[in-house]
Amino acid sequence: MYDHIVIRYAEIALKGKNQKEFINRLIHNIKEQIKTDLDITPLIEREMGRIYLHLEGRAPELFYDSLNHVFGISSYSPARKTTLELEEIKATALEELRGAMDGPCKFRVSVKRANKKFPITSPEMQQIIAAHMLKNLSGLKADLHHYDFDLLLEIRDDGTYIYTRSFPGLRGLPLGSSGRGVVLLSGGIDSPVAGWLAMKRGVTIEAVHFHSYPYTSEQAKEKVLELAKRMAKYSNRVVVHMVPFTKIQEEIAHYCHDNMRIPIMRRIMVRIAEEIARQRDCLAIFTGDNLGQVASQTMESIYAINQVATMPILRPCITMEKEEIIRLAQQIDTYETSILPYEDCCTVFVPKEPKTKPKVEGCEKEEARLDITQLVADAVAQTERIIVYGKDKPERRLRREADIGKE
Ligand code: ATP
Ligand code: MG
Repeated sequence: MYDHIVIRYAEIALKGKNQKEFINRLIHNIKEQIKTDLDITPLIEREMGRIYLHLEGRAPELFYDSLNHVFGISSYSPARKTTLELEEIKATALEELRGAMDGPCKFRVSVKRANKKFPITSPEMQQIIAAHMLKNLSGLKADLHHYDFDLLLEIRDDGTYIYTRSFPGLRGLPLGSSGRGVVLLSGGIDSPVAGWLAMKRGVTIEAVHFHSYPYTSEQAKEKVLELAKRMAKYSNRVVVHMVPFTKIQEEIAHYCHDNMRIPIMRRIMVRIAEEIARQRDCLAIFTGDNLGQVASQTMESIYAINQVATMPILRPCITMEKEEIIRLAQQIDTYETSILPYEDCCTVFVPKEPKTKPKVEGCEKEEARLDITQLVADAVAQTERIIVYGKDKPERRLRREADIGKE
């Protein structure tokens, strides 16, 4: 019977003196994910580059979905633990391989002897175990290079862990280990992917969405909340800042030249997002920009938009192919929601001929007709904050800043 899941982490093993903090965070995140998903507080231990989740009588499969949503895991294996007695190791290894096989197959044995007091060397142990398998199981062939199963034995101080199957994790860095950022979350395909990629690099993400209700529908807002909820599967919860953008859109449409609307809109979005980011202790703004995809995403546009920012604007999807972004969106389960047809604030006010090469001076000239400081301050003040959860918990709409928390 399986009694543990052995969890491996790759990248964080490289991080020198921060390593301990990163591992603690990874363990914390695994516990949180399992607690949220299954309402179980799991017993987890760490030892020598591995994390051991105790199953305490439960089936390992119960935990797979949770582990598949935690950043920082490179792979994991359901494992059987036994003693350091040779006969018991042989019997448990046999049980493991017999359980994994269905029909004739090739195998090999790999032994890692972390416990140097164990009297048999790794190569000898490999021989002994392989011979025992071949003697007791029919349809087996040993093959060091072309094998269906790698029967792994880790010999440690407290016992021997035995496993054959290994599942890939999400990799990346534990969420929270790289600080905090906001993602500009539209209803499109790219920005949820950008937010997810930021999360994958350890950034705790809050979402900022600009809506132009009643030009855009209530469903458009719901769609964004649904996207945030799907992202929250990987982080337990996401705080969404819903910024009313209607008045700003109307003023831009009224006072600014038609073909300059988009860069001006984006420049105002950035100013507002920065203000929210500062309030929330975030150090960067992530967007779903993708070079050359539309008029607002040329080098010239990106340059003009960046001029109003004092914070880094990071664009994880910038060089990706659209197919690559779509594939990721499907993998993280945001694609189906993103392609729902509701209007975005940018599509409502879209100009007939947007400038693909807006100039900074041009933007500044147009913006001089608006009271940007006031518009930004009003939008920030009227922003609605909603917390969505990855698990089936009702969302919470908040009035007071102090109610949110910054975990
Ligand atoms: P997406 O698929 O993410 O909507 P897109 O290819 O449609 O991106 P644009 O509409 O030009 O591109 O938007 C570029 C980026 O600007 C988006 O990825 C997003 O980060 C941000 N953005 C655009 N519209 C909004 C909005 N209404 N609210 C928040 N952010 C937005
Ligand atoms: Mg869009």
